[in-house]
Amino acid sequence: MTDSIRSKILVIEDDPGILTFLRTTLAAVGYDTILVSSGATALEMIASHCPDCVLLDLGLPDMDGNEIIRSMRKWTRTPIVVISARSMEEDKALALDLGADDYVTKPFGTVELLARIRTALRHTRTTAENGEIALTGSFHVGGLTIDYRKRRVSVDGADAHLTPNEFRIVALLGMHAGRVLTYRTMLRELWGPSASSDNKILRVHMASIRRKIEPNPSEPRYIFTEVGVGYRMAEEDRG
Ligand code: CA
Repeated sequence: MTDSIRSKILVIEDDPGILTFLRTTLAAVGYDTILVSSGATALEMIASHCPDCVLLDLGLPDMDGNEIIRSMRKWTRTPIVVISARSMEEDKALALDLGADDYVTKPFGTVELLARIRTALRHTRTTAENGEIALTGSFHVGGLTIDYRKRRVSVDGADAHLTPNEFRIVALLGMHAGRVLTYRTMLRELWGPSASSDNKILRVHMASIRRKIEPNPSEPRYIFTEVGVGYRMAEEDRG
C-alpha cells in the first residue's frame, strides 16, 4: 500500500484471544487499530474516531452485530468487514444486504482477512473520488476487459458478444470487483426494487456469461460463485 496516511481500523470483537491476534496482525502491516468489545461502545467510537474501516464480530455480548450495521448505514458509508463464526449462507446474505462490504468466516486466514480489508479501503476511495471514471472508463483483469463507454466486454481482445442484460451483470460486478454482491442486491440494482427475488434468472444469465468469457466455465477465473450468497468479480489488475 502506498498510503502516506495510515488507515485506522476499528475492531469490534468480544473474544480477547481474537482481539489480541487482530491487534498484532493489523499493527504488523502498518494499520492503526482501535479495539472495542461491546456494541454500545462501538457506535460511540465510530462516531468519535471516524475509522477508515470497521471489522465487526456479529456475536457481541450486548447486541447483535447486525444492529451495528443497520445503525451505521443510516449515517456513514465507512466500510464494514464482518468477521463471524456464523457461516450459514443466510447469515452472510443478511449482513451484506444490511450494508456490510464483506464477510469473513471464523476461523479465517491472515492473508484472506488482509485482502478483504484492502479491498474495502480501496472501494471507499473509488466510490468517493473516481465514481464517474469507473462508469466511463474500463476494467481489466487477466484477459478480460469491460469497456463501460462502449458497453462491451472482450476476452483476450475478442468481443464476448454479451447480450445487454449479460453486459449489465458483468458491469455491475466489475464496478464492485473483489466484493461479494448478494443475489438480492444484484436483482435490485439491475431490475429495480420490485424485481423478483428469484435467483434463477441470475443463474441462467451467469451460465451463459461464463460460456462466453471463461476459458473453463466450471472453474471460473473472472466471476466467482459464493454459494447461496451471490457473485464476486476478481480484483482488477494493478500495474
Ligand atoms: Ca463474539
